[in-house]
Amino acid sequence: MRLVILGPPGAGKGTQAASIVDTFNVVHISTGDIFRENIKNATELGQKAKSYMDRGELVPDELVNEIVVDRLHKPDLDNGFLLDGFPRTVNQAVALDAALEQMGTKLDRVINIVVASDLLIDRAVGRRVCPKCGRTYHIVNQKPKVEGKCDADGETLIQRDDDTEETVKKRIEVYEKQTSPLIDYYKAQGLLLDIDGSQAIDDVFEQIRRGLEEEA
Ligand code: ADP
Ligand code: AMP
Repeated sequence: MRLVILGPPGAGKGTQAASIVDTFNVVHISTGDIFRENIKNATELGQKAKSYMDRGELVPDELVNEIVVDRLHKPDLDNGFLLDGFPRTVNQAVALDAALEQMGTKLDRVINIVVASDLLIDRAVGRRVCPKCGRTYHIVNQKPKVEGKCDADGETLIQRDDDTEETVKKRIEVYEKQTSPLIDYYKAQGLLLDIDGSQAIDDVFEQIRRGLEEEA
């Protein structure tokens, strides 16, 4: 299955992605994770991306498109993929369609997680991540077993630099302006699977599972 997961910052895309890849055996491709990895490794790409990310703005399309198109050509995607955080502009969506068409394939479904903005701020500001394995937690909604430590590897959890209230608000604005037009773009292609993301994590996944299984 070739999937995109769409939704505003803090909607729960990464959280649901973890369950989707396990259940449907697809590869998780998160452009945000790719950029954060590059920042950690002090690459040229990481340096270029960091200033945009810190401001809550989008990294320019040319940079992002190239990375994703390269990634789609890697040989591990035979059973499909889940794109998380990409596309974020209509230009990116058009580039994705073109790349897939050239490869003789296309998207099967676009999962659209819908959450009201007051919940988004609370979710993103309360998010904590493991710097080692990337697992996501929340200080109230999804606590680790030991406070401040990753369940999987015991690493001290951190807060993302862009998860301050001010930057989250900016990212939500950017989503509304630049990314939300993708909802109509994919609706017109008959690909959209709308999901009520305000429910508990397991209930959100149950909606997604049912929606995707109907397709199979
Ligand atoms: P995104 O990838 O869309 O930015 P995440 O999956 O990282 O969002 O989720 C943002 C924060 O909200 C995380 O701290 C996560 O634990 C929490 N979260 C995710 N889904 C839910 C949910 N359905 N209910 C409550 N909290 C959630
Ligand atoms: P995320 O991890 O998806 O929340 O992304 C974190 C940040 O990385 C965003 O706020 C952007 O600055 C940048 N980013 C991630 N994916 C993209 C993309 N597809 N296009 C532009 N910028 C992106």
